[in-house]
Amino acid sequence: MQTPHELETQIKNTIKQLAELTDKTKASAFFKNYLTIMSRFHKYSMHNQMLILIHALSMKINPTKLMGFQQWNSFERKVKRGQKGIAILIPIISKYDKFLHRLKRNPDTRLYFCDTCKKYYGDNFTTELASGFKAGYVFDISQTEGKPLPEIEITVDGENSIHILNALEKFCEKNRIILQYKQLGIANLYGYTSGDKIVISETDTTDTKTATLIHEIAHNLLHKENHEMPKQQREIQAEAVSFAVCNYFGIESKGFNYLALYDADYKKIMENLEVVSGTSKMLINNIKKGLIKETEIGKEEQEMAVEV
Ligand SMILES: [Zn+2]
Ligand SMILES: [Zn+2]
Repeated sequence: MQTPHELETQIKNTIKQLAELTDKTKASAFFKNYLTIMSRFHKYSMHNQMLILIHALSMKINPTKLMGFQQWNSFERKVKRGQKGIAILIPIISKYDKFLHRLKRNPDTRLYFCDTCKKYYGDNFTTELASGFKAGYVFDISQTEGKPLPEIEITVDGENSIHILNALEKFCEKNRIILQYKQLGIANLYGYTSGDKIVISETDTTDTKTATLIHEIAHNLLHKENHEMPKQQREIQAEAVSFAVCNYFGIESKGFNYLALYDADYKKIMENLEVVSGTSKMLINNIKKGLIKETEIGKEEQEMAVEV
């Protein structure tokens, strides 16, 4: 039998592993490439988003990732033949100084020059504003073909954790947490917590549902009354609890990818060691109790069957 102290040591070692894996993920070329690609997707204005949506829906496209023709080429993807672009307004961005004089760029020195002030400015001392608009076209990823875009995996395959999931469902019931499975319909949304309600995406694998439910339960236990804590720290705590509990029961977790996307690192994760290990220990013990009850009920049913 494992002593409570041994369990705590095991959990803390797992969280240390998570912290190391998060740093490793962030340092990887794959991750850096992913971030570059994501930052190159346009952030469109509200007005443009409406335009895009109206145009796209009339073309029976549900847009997810939009870029111009040339930009797709730079990702080794090509717009398929016969595809029509979605019209947008592209702002023409110009640089200004603090007096809102429009600046000219010197291509040799890479500095910006103000004709009025007769002064040079470095990049950090300028303001970017739209000086006008031009019409442009973007294409959704579904209208293109070629090399797949890199993807950071958060979900896991596997259906083996059904007993753990059932034990967690019982834990929610006992603690008056309302649990619902719903079709969330939005890419990359696996679940969420709102007050005493937890909603989990019903379309994911069992192992992903289990990992998500642990994450949301951790939010419920730790952050329901703590709205001052920064979002990043809340996500570190919830995901580290999920990672530690999943690891204990042999369920795969991609928590390091999730935390890398939240810009967490070794130090920030380890700063939460005590609260994460305490919550993980409590959840592990509760799941184990739930599992024991389940097998006992199973035994009774079997014995009754023999009697009959
Ligand atoms: Zn000026
Ligand atoms: Zn979260």
